Amino acid sequence: MFPGFYEEIHEEFREVVREFVAREVTPHYKQWDAAHLMDRAVWEAAAENGLLGLAVDEDHGGMGLTDYRFRMILDEELARADALGLALALHLHDDWVLPALRRFGTAEQQQTWLPRFLDSSFIASVAFTEPGAGSDLRGVRTKAVRQDDGSWLLTGQKTFIGNAVSGDGALVLARTDGSDVKRRGGAESFSLFLVEKEDNPGYQVGSQLEKMGLKASDTAELFFSEARVPAENLIGGEGRGLEIAKEILPQGRLAVAAGAAAVAEAALGQTVDYVRQRTAFDQPVAEFQNTRFQLAELQIELEAVQRYLAATVEAFDAGQLDVVGASKAKLFIGERAKSMLDTCLQLHGGYGYILEYPVAQAYLAVRLMTIFGGTSEILRETIGTDLLRD
Ligand SMILES: Cc1cc2nc3c(=O)[nH]c(=O)nc-3n(C[C@H](O)[C@H](O)[C@H](O)COP(=O)(O)OP(=O)(O)OC[C@H]3O[C@@H](n4cnc5c(N)ncnc54)[C@H](O)[C@@H]3O)c2cc1C
Repeated sequence: MFPGFYEEIHEEFREVVREFVAREVTPHYKQWDAAHLMDRAVWEAAAENGLLGLAVDEDHGGMGLTDYRFRMILDEELARADALGLALALHLHDDWVLPALRRFGTAEQQQTWLPRFLDSSFIASVAFTEPGAGSDLRGVRTKAVRQDDGSWLLTGQKTFIGNAVSGDGALVLARTDGSDVKRRGGAESFSLFLVEKEDNPGYQVGSQLEKMGLKASDTAELFFSEARVPAENLIGGEGRGLEIAKEILPQGRLAVAAGAAAVAEAALGQTVDYVRQRTAFDQPVAEFQNTRFQLAELQIELEAVQRYLAATVEAFDAGQLDVVGASKAKLFIGERAKSMLDTCLQLHGGYGYILEYPVAQAYLAVRLMTIFGGTSEILRETIGTDLLRD
């Protein structure tokens, strides 16, 4: 980020993160990428270093670091280390599932679950998307049926679920009003459940999906066949699933925007280094006027992205970031980062296309940012509709 954005206390935190990445991530990352799975040990190490659930308050064993700038430092350091799969895995846990629990969990639920999120004994997935329902969550067909003892039986299928293999359970969006699943549900047809994998034979993880990039982060389908869900695992009350999903969207979308900005910043730094050392026609690539012009454009774009992100983070920290604001940030930053990475890759020539090069990995990672957590088309719909509202 630009000078002055972070304060000394953030930079001290960065040192902790940097050491964690150098010690626990970099030596193993290539192996995780090849295996399409990270060792659980990295979660445990993150927990030991206090890097999970930064915003969880001290009463629940956390540090209460609600200032989102701390969270951004993790993304920046992981982007610099070319370990973006871990950044995505942490986002799902910290920026999608945890906010639902922190904001809508009962006192008992928070007492039970927050310490487990912090000490990595529960690694979380968010399971909203289904084969037939992504952008339109009212099309979700997974259903939960209440039993006489108040517990639920969950049946259905989810897809594209991050941490599905490595994780311990998922925040699942399911239909609870008994409506015909072949039709779109109503605003109150859905509920959210925190569903545990352990000792739950009805909770099955499908084979992994082969992604273009971010391979160290495992992604798979989930199959629920009368999976058991205790009554106390319903989050926020029956019929409030979509409402809560909407409430946690600002943080989820901010996280994607912050991740995209971190990737763009790291890639521009790597590109500047590369064009300085690569020669063509007896001179460094950096000496071509075209290279300087491209870098100039990239630098301005990066600054615009970072200023926009800073304003969005400020609004979030003040409790004022709504879905429209977060959608604007994700749309602008996600799309800019995507085009910036295209230029960075081009400036690397053929090496930019080789997966061993960080810029190629970053290019593939950033491609997800305009899809996951709301496609750019859906974001434009949200923003445009809001603009036209009376
Ligand atoms: C690598 C990866 C990881 C993911 N991780 C998770 C996860 O952990 N948990 C989870 O729940 N989901 C996850 N997702 C799912 C992701 O959020 C969805 O893919 C995304 O929301 C889009 O849904 P869809 O794929 O069904 O696309 P669709 O909704 O089928 O969209 C197809 C196309 O139609 C366009 N479109 C749809 N509706 C409109 C409209 N109203 N107006 C204009 N255009 C429209 C879309 O923009 C898109 O271009 C992940 C996806 C990927 C690829």
